[in-house]
Amino acid sequence: MIRRALLGTAAFVAAGMSRVSGAQTPAAFAEADLQHAAKLRELALADTQAWPLLQQLCRDIGARPAGSAADAQAVAWAQGALRGLKLQNVRAEPLPLRVWQRGPASATLLAPGAQEPGVPAREQALVMAALGNSVPTPPAGIEAEIAWYPDLAALLADDPASSRARGRIVFIDQKMERTRTGSGYSAAVGARSMGPIEAARRGAVAVGIRSIGTDRAPIAHTGATRYDLSLPRIPAFAVSVPDAEVIAGLQAGGSPLRLRLKLEARSDVDAITHNVIAEVPGTDLKDEVVLIGAHLDSWDLGQGAQDDGAGVAIVSAAAGVLMAAGVAPRRTIRVVLFGNEENGFDGARAYGDRYKDVVHQLVGESDFGAGPVFQLNHRVQAAAVPLFEDVARVLAPLGVAWAEGEARNRGGPGPDAALLMRRHRWPGLALGQDGSNYFDVHHTENDTLERVDPRTLPQNVACWAVTAWLAAQAPLGFGPPVL
Ligand SMILES: [Zn+2]
Repeated sequence: MIRRALLGTAAFVAAGMSRVSGAQTPAAFAEADLQHAAKLRELALADTQAWPLLQQLCRDIGARPAGSAADAQAVAWAQGALRGLKLQNVRAEPLPLRVWQRGPASATLLAPGAQEPGVPAREQALVMAALGNSVPTPPAGIEAEIAWYPDLAALLADDPASSRARGRIVFIDQKMERTRTGSGYSAAVGARSMGPIEAARRGAVAVGIRSIGTDRAPIAHTGATRYDLSLPRIPAFAVSVPDAEVIAGLQAGGSPLRLRLKLEARSDVDAITHNVIAEVPGTDLKDEVVLIGAHLDSWDLGQGAQDDGAGVAIVSAAAGVLMAAGVAPRRTIRVVLFGNEENGFDGARAYGDRYKDVVHQLVGESDFGAGPVFQLNHRVQAAAVPLFEDVARVLAPLGVAWAEGEARNRGGPGPDAALLMRRHRWPGLALGQDGSNYFDVHHTENDTLERVDPRTLPQNVACWAVTAWLAAQAPLGFGPPVL
């Protein structure tokens, strides 16, 4: 049950006073709100909800690409789960969209017989996956020589007017570095998102990339790619890291390599998905929203356990803790499980269009697996920054540090929330997780429940419960954020 206990005097007094004496009296949280935040932290650390939610989503439904039957099942499941947590105003907001569907695909490397002349070419089937949005090859497939580039920068440096990519299959051997923050991904992912455009600009007939991932498993990492409609759209795929290394080794030998590619896929298939929404209703500022999000869809490989089943479980359980604690927040805390983050951000766009006139105090998204949160940053108006000192103090026992210097108020929230922050100038929250192992399984068949450590989930739940609560109680609006 929710009651209005903490409302009234404490919060209003806090708005005009500071616990720090002096000429400047910046707004501060009410002491009772900070105490409740600490209580929420302890309740959430004892959370037993997130893991069973993740188990259900992975085992009972599994992969749930937007618009699929499994996605529809996930939408129904999520509403039931959120109602089970006693959240209010649970609803699914329909969202028509056009989706891409994977079909069978194969890539065969035709290496020259190494030693003796006259030895027939060696054929090796590569472990591969089409990139999301890839066009198909003609039914008979494509066979061409490989034009190999060590990374995207090398392709960009190849003059389109005289490129050796012309008439060939470009292969971009972009490597990805393992980092705690995931910065290696941002540095490498351009090969996947821009590779087909840059290869087509240079006259290539198809493009392959080394998987954007940090593992050495015999699996390929998919993910969305893009086209420039003023250029030919060419088929695009990723190969496993070990197979990319085979290609690198053979091409270093100097003999021309050929590749045969067959790829089936459908684009622009009419479908429907939903944003699933639930609330911890606010009180005196109930028309303002603190958004804690995750995305319900996944790629079609694996179970979408870390991407983003974990986030779904974490923010849902956090809202469940807030509800169970029995104290109503001032602002409404809204869980949003976005549709189709992976291949188009349709859910985030539709949410923003629908709620563009609603004041959003903060938007955040858990979409980085289940690793522990280690850093807090944000992007809010300058006057609100000092409030985060108190937020950081409540989070400190969880091993979370407030980012330092410039990074402190330059937070980049998860992808759907980041889109909303940019489009609507809503303040953003980032709870940076340890992503050291996240890209071993990201967008692959290995993104399954078995690879999730359930022990780190309650720490995540605690971080989201604490930050959502304090954002909802804050004595001033967080927006508009600094640019
Ligand atoms: Zn994701």
